[in-house]
Amino acid sequence: MAEALPAGANPLKQTQKALGDCIDCKLCIAVCPTGIDIRNGTQLECINCTACIDACDEVMDKVKRPRGLIRYDSFNGVSAGARRLFTPRVIAYSVVLTGLLVANIFLLSGRTDVEALVLRTPGMLFQKVDDQHLSNLYNFQIINKTKEVFEVRFEPETAGATIKPIGQIPKTKPTDVVEGAFFIEMEKGKLTGRKTQVVINVYSGDKLIDKVKTNFLGPGY
Ligand code: SF4
Repeated sequence: MAEALPAGANPLKQTQKALGDCIDCKLCIAVCPTGIDIRNGTQLECINCTACIDACDEVMDKVKRPRGLIRYDSFNGVSAGARRLFTPRVIAYSVVLTGLLVANIFLLSGRTDVEALVLRTPGMLFQKVDDQHLSNLYNFQIINKTKEVFEVRFEPETAGATIKPIGQIPKTKPTDVVEGAFFIEMEKGKLTGRKTQVVINVYSGDKLIDKVKTNFLGPGY
């Protein structure tokens, strides 16, 4: 129920006293797309469009009062007027953000134009080629991150390994992945155990564009 005013009291002045610098123009309600009265505090319907802030600032300029009557602020900011820019949360978020930026720059600077992936075909054991050699079957993928088309070739760096492509190694496609398969033949004498690491250099012409490591599966004796 409305409170009775003393005789002769100005109702507008009473409202102004309750609402501070607010002159009760109701522009903040008029511009609000969800029709709420933000002067009653934050409400669930608010979509943070800030239309009421702009409308209120314009009115405050006209009545020569400080801007920011409607503003984003903390409870302490409103009740005690205390405004701290560097709160522990802001510092923590800044540290995390800086870490993410540094990680992003580091990853982007190490990004290669071409990426090759060589994996031993799952479920396949080694095959005997002759008395001196064994072979393993591999699947490969070449990821071309450029808009160029070029040929690639695989050359093993590991001593005793030879690559035997199955068919032609396809040309790369711009910003696409090509796949294929090849055998690696290994001299038995170069095996270091059941698994022997094989390093494969990937060339485009004379240019080394990637280096991949994979395992060669042997009998382990
Ligand atoms: S920010 Fe937008 S939605 Fe929220 S109260 Fe102000 S005008 Fe309404």
